Parts: sequence; C-alpha cells; structure tokens
Amino acid sequence: MKIGVVALQGAVTEHLTALSELGAEAIPVKEANQLRELDGLVLPGGESTAIRRLMDAAQLREHLQLFSREKPVFGTCAGLILLAKEVIGEEAHIGTMNVVVERNSFGRQIDSFITDVTVQERKIPAVFIRAPHIQSVGNNVEVLATVGDRIVLARDGHLLGCAFHPELTEDRYIFELFLEMVKKSASARLASHENVL
Ligand code: GLN
Repeated sequence: MKIGVVALQGAVTEHLTALSELGAEAIPVKEANQLRELDGLVLPGGESTAIRRLMDAAQLREHLQLFSREKPVFGTCAGLILLAKEVIGEEAHIGTMNVVVERNSFGRQIDSFITDVTVQERKIPAVFIRAPHIQSVGNNVEVLATVGDRIVLARDGHLLGCAFHPELTEDRYIFELFLEMVKKSASARLASHENVL
C-alpha cells in the first residue's frame, strides 16, 4: 500500500515513520501529480492557516478535494480542520468530511495535554496540542472517541479525522485503523473495476 503524507508544514516525518513501521510505503507529497499513484493520504497536524496558504500556492486544494471524494484520507489535528465541511468562524478548506470543527477549542490554560481516550474499547494515549474538536457530525459519521463531551475522533466513510496526535506516541492503533480503511477501499475499487471488465 502506498500512502502519501502532505508535506507542506507540520508533523510530516512522524507520520512517515508511523506508516512505514506498519509496513506501508509512505512518501511525502508536495505536488498534485504525486496523488495518482496513492492508495491513501495523510494530512498531518501543524497550523491549518499556514498549510492552507501553502496548499493554495502549490495549487493542491482542488486535487485534494477530488482525491478525498474517492480515496481514504486521514486528517490529524490541523489536518482534521482542513478536511472538515465546516470550520466555526472561518471558511472551509478541503471541506469533504461531514463534520463541524472548532479550532483551538480546549482553552488557553490547557493548550497542550495528554490523556487516555477509548477507541473501540481500547485505551490509547492521546496528545492534544492547541487542538480542535468536532462540534457535530453529519448523518452516517461514526463517533469513535470523545474527551468529556467533545468528539475527538470520527469516521465519515473513507475519511478519518482525529483532533489529537497519534504520531507522537508509540501506540499505532489509529494508524492500523486507517490502513484497514485503505485496504478495504482498495479492494472495493478493484472489485468494482473487475465488474466493469
Ligand atoms: N491550532 C492549530 C490550527 O488551528 C492546530 C494544532 C495542531 O495541528 N497541533 O491549525
């Protein structure tokens, strides 16, 4: 499986490492023509406004919109903000994941913190850094983890959005979850292709 990590700004290397550890071929992506060969894509954390600016400069945004309509994309933190259909108080960016996101929503005093979250009955450590949260989800979006009453991990079909940073801990469960989605989506595409032939 070949997974791209959008490499404009933010925690790119950590994602490449996590994906490679799990046996995926992981490559940094800076240009639209690299998307064609990928089975899935990660939008890493960083600063969403900076990534948006660089994305526009590289003329990547429309290509990412098209890609995310068809193939699995995993947005972490700023990546989740970029994927969301709605961002409170500002215009959406890629806008294909059916969630409403609020930026920097855990308050100034606790800009960054680590806590345990439960994902599919499994406890995993979650690092929050000036994190957003998912304020609400659309129909058919699965809520996979919460902190208090805030949604911090959700899945909209082949799109996965996470408010925290799974690449900064040893636990690889969230990446395993994403790679399962990539595998499922690739075999579904293959099956529909075979039906056409
Ligand atoms: N606060 C950042 C933003 O709004 C996200 C922080 C992160 O990705 N760690 O884009």
